[in-house]
Amino acid sequence: MTTDTTRVELDAVVVGAGFSGMYMLYRLRDVLGLSARVFEAGDEVGGTWYWNRYPGARCDSESYLYCFSFDKGLAQEWTWSGKYPEQPEILRYLSHVADRFDLRRDIQFETRVTAAHFREDLDRWEIETDQGDRVLARYFITGVGCISAGQMPRIEGLDRFEGEWHHTGSWPHEGVDFAGKRVGVIGTGSSGVQAIPVIARQAGHLTVFQRTPQYTIPARHGTVTPEFLDEVKGRYDEIFEKTRWSRGGTPYDEAERSALDFDDDERRRIYEAAWEEGGFRFLLTTFGDITFDRRANDTAAEFIRSKIRETVDDPETAETLMPRDHPFASKRALIDTNYYETYNRDNVDLVDIRHAPIEEITPTGIRTREGEYELDVIVFATGYDGMTGAFNRMDIRGRGGQALREKWAEGPKAYLGLSPAGFPNMFMITGPGSPSVLSNMPPTIEQHVEFVSDFVAYMVEHGIELAEADLEAETEWVDHVNETASRTLYMLADSWYLGANIPGKPRVFMPYAGGLDVYRTKCNEVAEAGYEGYVLHAREPVAAG
Ligand code: NAP
Repeated sequence: MTTDTTRVELDAVVVGAGFSGMYMLYRLRDVLGLSARVFEAGDEVGGTWYWNRYPGARCDSESYLYCFSFDKGLAQEWTWSGKYPEQPEILRYLSHVADRFDLRRDIQFETRVTAAHFREDLDRWEIETDQGDRVLARYFITGVGCISAGQMPRIEGLDRFEGEWHHTGSWPHEGVDFAGKRVGVIGTGSSGVQAIPVIARQAGHLTVFQRTPQYTIPARHGTVTPEFLDEVKGRYDEIFEKTRWSRGGTPYDEAERSALDFDDDERRRIYEAAWEEGGFRFLLTTFGDITFDRRANDTAAEFIRSKIRETVDDPETAETLMPRDHPFASKRALIDTNYYETYNRDNVDLVDIRHAPIEEITPTGIRTREGEYELDVIVFATGYDGMTGAFNRMDIRGRGGQALREKWAEGPKAYLGLSPAGFPNMFMITGPGSPSVLSNMPPTIEQHVEFVSDFVAYMVEHGIELAEADLEAETEWVDHVNETASRTLYMLADSWYLGANIPGKPRVFMPYAGGLDVYRTKCNEVAEAGYEGYVLHAREPVAAG
């Protein structure tokens, strides 16, 4: 970084204009009266929903819960059309939020933050962008999302492919015409299972290249009635309050009972009812021990395998689709619409690349160890460098010039998943070590944003210049995150939660598995104790001159 002093000075810089960055801007500017600027790479607000425009993209959280709760008027005036919000509708919602709170005037679009260095001589962050901006800010706040750094597998020959190819996380805005084409999809995670049924209906032929079979639950998507929305809106205060104090960020009655306390018939009846209702209820409302007791989990896993057997006509295809190597929900539980049914279509084939891996991409398709597949379009639904990828793509440096990516070389470390020690006045919204992706995101984001803005207000009020996570508090929190994960079945899958999808990434469970409710209690206690675990540096009195 240069030492030129002709740069913009602000109270805060925020990275990213998704749910996190937008609400953070509102709190900093409209509630605290501070100067703030958001830098956003896209040309509109929306974050992940700006980039993920692949066919079938929609949120797995119910629409009436996938929204902000901080403004009553906003919650009352917006009307969702579907049970689950489709990507274009979420984008319209966030655009409406941007209009309503006049956010765009402090968002600089088409601008990527390339570097953020803590200047110890100034006690300020110096932020640089790819558009040549240089800004000094007291607070550096990231709202970069957990799954925003797309991951392309290293497969020989992609540069020679003569057809089109796209990653689901950076989908062309004009869409992709699959009509009559031979399409290959690599990847069967959340993005793949959403895209595959829709592409199958459009394409001439679809070949799905599956490495790990997945458990997926039907969404039971549909429209929502005005009566339902009226009823929800009438109870929003109660719904949002219950959501805030839930494990997973929903108001569902989360189950406490054990799957092992029921006989086979009764247990199956409970699973059937939740399967019919659809979505995350299957995970959250059936039995409380599915995520940490292997025997309980096996009952859910076997139930889903029985559904695959019932649904898929060809027994060999059904067998290939059946997950057996990891517990249910140890990778992100998937929610789908007609996923297993899609394999009954004449124009769809499933290729097991665990058994016969992809060897190369040829100019005309994909060659596996056992065969060659001619393709016009390849869709990479191959996921993300989750939780840390977006940070590592920026040059973030704290005290002594320490790079965040060096501090995190053996896994991410941050107090409360919010503040890395050695990086004063840096706050991460839904950073690694916070509940984030293990819960419905908007309530989790609101909790973080409110914690940070209350903290900033406290600093202003108490004349505190810098807040810095204490190294010991950070270590204790990271140990607690690891210990909590070790009591779950999450450790038994090669998931992106563990960084297992990125060659060379340290195997560390990144989100906090203790639940949003427990996490909120901890953060409240930290705040009530005067921000325990942070070292607070008071403003130096100015020397008389
Ligand atoms: P993902 O869950 O990481 O799935 C990636 C898929 O690509 C997996 O099937 C993976 O196989 C496969 N894959 C990766 N590298 C490969 C390679 N080199 N060769 C062959 N196959 C390869 O990614 P995602 O589906 O994009 O989802 C990521 C996360 O985004 C989700 O977990 C969720 O949190 C979020 N998301 C949410 C929604 C929603 O709310 N509806 C929608 C989309 C995404 P393996 O399993 O063998 O690694």
